[in-house]
Amino acid sequence: MQYTTDLHTASESDVLVVGGGPAGIGAAVAAARAGARTVLVERYGSLGGNLTAGLVGPCMTSFSLDGRTQLIRGVFDEFVRRMEAMGQALHPSRTHAADAYAGFIEYGHDKVTPFEPEAAKTVAMQMCLEAGVELALHSFVCDSLVIDGRVEGVVTAEKDGLRARKAAVVVDCSADGDVAARAGAATEFGRESDGLVQPMTLFFRIAGIDDEEVERYVRSHPEDFRPFASIVAKARAEGRFPAPRMGVGMYKTLRPGVWRINTTRILGKDATRSADLTAAEIEGRDQVLKLVEFFRAELPGFGDCELLDTAATIGVRESRRVVGEYVLTLEDLQTGVHFDDVIAMCAYPVDIHDPAGSGGGSDEKWGTANAYEIPYRSLVPRDLEGLLVAGRCASATHEAMAAIRVMPPAFAMGQAAGTAAALAVAGGIAPRDVDVDSLQERLLADGAYLGERVVVGAA
Ligand SMILES: Cc1cc2nc3c(=O)[nH]c(=O)nc-3n(C[C@H](O)[C@H](O)[C@H](O)COP(=O)(O)OP(=O)(O)OC[C@H]3O[C@@H](n4cnc5c(N)ncnc54)[C@H](O)[C@@H]3O)c2cc1C
Repeated sequence: MQYTTDLHTASESDVLVVGGGPAGIGAAVAAARAGARTVLVERYGSLGGNLTAGLVGPCMTSFSLDGRTQLIRGVFDEFVRRMEAMGQALHPSRTHAADAYAGFIEYGHDKVTPFEPEAAKTVAMQMCLEAGVELALHSFVCDSLVIDGRVEGVVTAEKDGLRARKAAVVVDCSADGDVAARAGAATEFGRESDGLVQPMTLFFRIAGIDDEEVERYVRSHPEDFRPFASIVAKARAEGRFPAPRMGVGMYKTLRPGVWRINTTRILGKDATRSADLTAAEIEGRDQVLKLVEFFRAELPGFGDCELLDTAATIGVRESRRVVGEYVLTLEDLQTGVHFDDVIAMCAYPVDIHDPAGSGGGSDEKWGTANAYEIPYRSLVPRDLEGLLVAGRCASATHEAMAAIRVMPPAFAMGQAAGTAAALAVAGGIAPRDVDVDSLQERLLADGAYLGERVVVGAA
């Protein structure tokens, strides 16, 4: 391959994590704590991915569906507790289904984690630096270095030019599977029937909301599927609602009068293409301005509200899924099947925003188990050596990914991938050959929960 820039400015590490979102934070912290020389490459100037740049929140549930067991612990729990100690988050054990922090949604929304994005930026960076992670911010991975089916590193576009960054193991936490796709891994995209993906959304925050009036109105209209659904339905029928969406997705924050709004909807765009992302940003921003105008005019409690901020980036719910040694399925989530190589447990239900319309959301109809498992093999690309994947690009079907895509499972998958990468480096072996018992033992020692069947000493 020819480059216009000389790539001799190479750097080397044991583990190179691409993407500093929830999965990447989990991976980098875990790999560095396990003793690997770890570099975390992130295109933005701060860490967090959707937690921060995407303004996405709260973190969806980290508990079992019945709210009894905290399934996602480890790095995620530490991250939350540190934000809580700053007064900038509520531990999920303190929130409840259908409360305002959960957007008034009951099913699958018990024990969410409200947090402030600025605290997330601070704590993510602190945890990485304290663990000894070398940060490479403002660095975009534009290509993969591959020799004979083995990923040897990546090429980054940095302020000072292109750079080859070599590593013994690369962990792709880019959410879009950029490293894996460029390296030639098999990937899947969208739903099986027509390849369409879930819509994008530009998150924004509104200040000046009368919290009590909102709560009073929503509680007195239990017939609405989502907050203000009847007002939205009427406006939609009259062609006055600016987004193809039913009801208002809105989540109270820790600041009085400030809510996160998850209501813009951009259909039919492909997040692996810059032209589509650009079009989505333009359309999303247009919808934001019109929505704020509509809210002020028509929603109880919103009369004096104003736009506080919009996310730095359009939010992408779905793009590539890397085909791994195992493809997690909806049935696995429904039966809660036990995998001998379990590396994370979760319970967030299937949450599909209609790829072609206005409906969707977390739904009881999919019948997912009280808790389900993610196997290590879903983090191991089928076709490539030297690479692991975690987060939104892990190996799962459209339906299964619609459940495990949320931020707590992304942290948990990242922690497992980072730990496995460090074990592979220490043992001089391929990631796919990592001893699962050793991996599980290390995860448990680092605070992860893998269910009742996997316990320290027996693993
Ligand atoms: C609109 C919307 C609403 C959502 N609502 C919720 C919610 O309420 N609660 C919840 O828990 N989850 C929610 N989610 C899901 C969740 O935010 C994501 O699925 C989750 O953040 C995935 O984590 P990740 O680490 O895989 O990816 P991301 O958070 O997307 O992080 C990926 C990181 O990689 C970086 N990156 C990407 N490509 C490159 C590259 N080539 N080079 C360098 N860096 C790169 C990005 O800048 C980013 O920092 C929502 C998602 C969307 C889009």
